[in-house]
Amino acid sequence: MKFKELCECFENIERHSSRIEMTQILSELFSELKVDESSIVCYLINSRVCPLFISKEFNISTKSLIKAMMAVASEIDGQFDVAKEYDNSGDLGLVVQSLKSLHVSSRKYEEYSLEKIYDKLWEIVNISGTGSSTQKMNKIIALLRDISPVESKFLVRVLSDRMRLGLSGKTVLDALSVCKTGTKDDRDDLELAYGVCSDLGYLANVYLDGGLESVKKIGIIPGNPIMSMLVEREKDFESIWERIDNPIVQPKFDGIRCQIHIVDDFQNKIRDRVWSKYLNKNIDTQQSFLSSGNRNVEVKIYSRNLEDMTDMFPEVVSSVKSLNLRSAVFDSEVIAYDESTGTFLPFQDTMVRKRKYDIANVAMDVPVKAFIFDLLYLNGESLIVKPTEERIKMLADMLEDSIKSSNNLVLAKNWNVKSVKELESVFYENVNAGLEGIIVKNPVSFYRPGRRSYDWIKMKKSIEGRLVDTIDVVIMGFYFGRGSQVDFGIGALLGGVYDEKLDRYVSITKIGTGITDEQWVEIKKTLDKFVVKTQPDNYDVARTLLPDVWVIPKVVATVEADEITRSPVHKAGLDSSGIGYALRFPRLVVWDRQKESCTTVAEVKSLYKKQKGN
Ligand code: ATP
Repeated sequence: MKFKELCECFENIERHSSRIEMTQILSELFSELKVDESSIVCYLINSRVCPLFISKEFNISTKSLIKAMMAVASEIDGQFDVAKEYDNSGDLGLVVQSLKSLHVSSRKYEEYSLEKIYDKLWEIVNISGTGSSTQKMNKIIALLRDISPVESKFLVRVLSDRMRLGLSGKTVLDALSVCKTGTKDDRDDLELAYGVCSDLGYLANVYLDGGLESVKKIGIIPGNPIMSMLVEREKDFESIWERIDNPIVQPKFDGIRCQIHIVDDFQNKIRDRVWSKYLNKNIDTQQSFLSSGNRNVEVKIYSRNLEDMTDMFPEVVSSVKSLNLRSAVFDSEVIAYDESTGTFLPFQDTMVRKRKYDIANVAMDVPVKAFIFDLLYLNGESLIVKPTEERIKMLADMLEDSIKSSNNLVLAKNWNVKSVKELESVFYENVNAGLEGIIVKNPVSFYRPGRRSYDWIKMKKSIEGRLVDTIDVVIMGFYFGRGSQVDFGIGALLGGVYDEKLDRYVSITKIGTGITDEQWVEIKKTLDKFVVKTQPDNYDVARTLLPDVWVIPKVVATVEADEITRSPVHKAGLDSSGIGYALRFPRLVVWDRQKESCTTVAEVKSLYKKQKGN
């Protein structure tokens, strides 16, 4: 397919706001693409050239893109003010499109195929080292000269991570199923396989090529992260007991979810991905590389949102190396730990370790330990369809001794609980040990990648008021504020949750109190990176609540509140009489949890029902 045809299809999607229509257009697009092209489209929709777990980003600032566009403008129309146009529209894609449209008749454009553009994008992604930004700029300028207005628009949007198509992973899965079967019948199986491979482009390729049978064969490959299984909440111990018979109970660690992989022969196993040939041969092997016999084995650590965090925790990497296993996948929580006093440190301390620079120094000040609580794969065998009790037993049997002798790995404790009373006492035992609470697990359940279910239930301490859990809100925008806050340029935040039925973000709260001046400075700094001029298409916010500044849905914050109330003001869970849900007395607990997903409307409704006293 020509890149131009794809861009015209994107424009068509942009003209529609209904998810059904967008799904239909996308499914028709998939039916016209070659399978490799379908992979590429899945990545481009997310402004990427490969899945999230491969750390390959464009890393191009808005400023640099404006500069590149100014260079192109100087050849077309010396009067065209790129920065001013961007100020007006807030969309670099639209700016470059109107710039390139100025002399459309006198110019013959290169006809790039989608594959050729993909090659060019990889050339840009793979530039690194000194002088890389100039080299990237030169490549972008050359490309922008060559291509038509509509292609320029989407090229710039991809490069600036602002596709604005309103297409989520869910819509892509729907569209794939519709393309192949005319219905959404295959959707659940696709989602399951997506949970195992975390690579939408690969999944599209396998499905469109080999159908559902091939999709069902997608298995775990160490080195390729699996989506983390998530937990449900309940209002009290009795309710948990009613859901799970004789549960296994583990401590709830409040750190960073880390999936630890011992990787064997990764390059060979991912040869069929469209992106694999573009990776440098020695990719990511410096820190984590080790030799075991004749094989090359490496260690990788992934966050819950599939980000490669291997380099952030060198002490964990070296302890995992000493286990001397061929291949394995562990589920764990990495948490800052004070060895001298034997105490867990607060979440904020652990977060200091989420950094790209100065790692060795900070690791000395804030050492971490990985608390391993599950085993998903071992020496060539996938364990996710084995019962939890069996996986946990394997973990203990195989690793107890080696983990004991390792400094930075700790096996999570397990309790086989036989009564509600015992459940309650294990909870307080953990809370008294400085932990956040407990996770209660169904001993006969499988590990379900990316799924939230009552097979794992959390019980946390210290939720004030009637609410039984914190809420993770996505920041949709902010307000300038009054008084001293004027100096910061920010005084309140608009938080939303995700409505999975509508595939939209809907407002649920305005947060403004209990935030210190230092926090406001940090908050503003984070949000400034994601500011857009206009309300994103997939946001629902009442007119009376429109923020002064909009931001795209990239930052998730954890909020505590007294309770969830019904509200005519917020759009979350709006019923036919126009009443939604809101948070009463919201307080910020953790700013920027750096996770992909926020709380959903369905979860808010379930929390509302479970509120103490309801
Ligand atoms: P949610 O996971 O519900 O979206 P959240 O990110 O705020 O919300 P928490 O309320 O902290 O998460 O609880 C769930 C998380 O607890 C898990 O995703 C996992 O990272 C962490 N966790 C800590 N200890 C364990 C354990 N023993 N088993 C499973 N998960 C654990």
